[in-house]
Amino acid sequence: MSEVKIALVTGAGRGIGRAIAIELAKNGCAVAVNYNKSSKAAEDVVNLIELSGGTAMAVKADVSSFTEVKEMFKSVNEKLGPIEILVCNAGITKDNLLMRMKEEEWNEVISANLTSLFYCAKEAVRSMLKARAGRIIVISSVTGLVGNPGQCNYSAAKAGATGFVKSLAREIGSRGVTVNAVAPGYIATDMTSVLSEDVQNIMLRNVPLGREGTPEDIAKVVAFLASDGASYIHGQVIAVDGGMTM
Ligand code: NAP
Repeated sequence: MSEVKIALVTGAGRGIGRAIAIELAKNGCAVAVNYNKSSKAAEDVVNLIELSGGTAMAVKADVSSFTEVKEMFKSVNEKLGPIEILVCNAGITKDNLLMRMKEEEWNEVISANLTSLFYCAKEAVRSMLKARAGRIIVISSVTGLVGNPGQCNYSAAKAGATGFVKSLAREIGSRGVTVNAVAPGYIATDMTSVLSEDVQNIMLRNVPLGREGTPEDIAKVVAFLASDGASYIHGQVIAVDGGMTM
């Protein structure tokens, strides 16, 4: 890989993705900050990185659309160069009990969290295989490991992400590309702020470290997986959850 590594982080305007983009930039990466709806927030992340002397660009794409993902890779490639680190972070929840879950709630969650991996990784691997180097890091969830009531759609997507990571790791490991997943536990972002206080308290009671995680807790692990120090970590799902799933 070149000296300055080129990274793409999906859903990087807010929450965990934002922290990952900033951490990768701190480690010397040129970062493409993908967003779908939060254009202003993504521009703020780019400004923050540039003010610290780094390189970044904002790039819009709905990761549920293969056409938009293809366009995103094209514009990042033109502006920064071929992507060497792909972080698939974008995700949504649409919680409901299975009995009440609408087909759209199922389909939208599967598209944004799982099908998007197929689109983004498919676009990324071509240049990575050519370079015989690269990192693909998927943000999964502990929910994909242990399940959660009201999240059949989200758990299925995140468990699917784990299978995707392991199969792709077996497919392309011999070509110098590592593929791993990080499974966050209960992290303080917009995604969890909508949960009722009761649910938040129940979640906290299940965290042996006794606190919610921060986006930075996840970003540090992703940055390590993206670094040379992690070159022998492959096909793993690393839970960063304060001990929730031990
Ligand atoms: P968040 O604060 O709700 O942010 C979600 C991010 O995903 C936003 O940047 C959003 O971008 C982006 N996104 C959603 N749909 C998209 C689409 N179709 N195309 C492009 N971007 C899209 O959530 P978060 O907590 O940071 O979650 C980040 C990741 O961590 C997700 O994969 C989530 O499932 C996972 N995770 C979170 C937790 C937690 O406790 N917070 C736990 C386990 C796993 P726009 O605003 O631009 O639309």
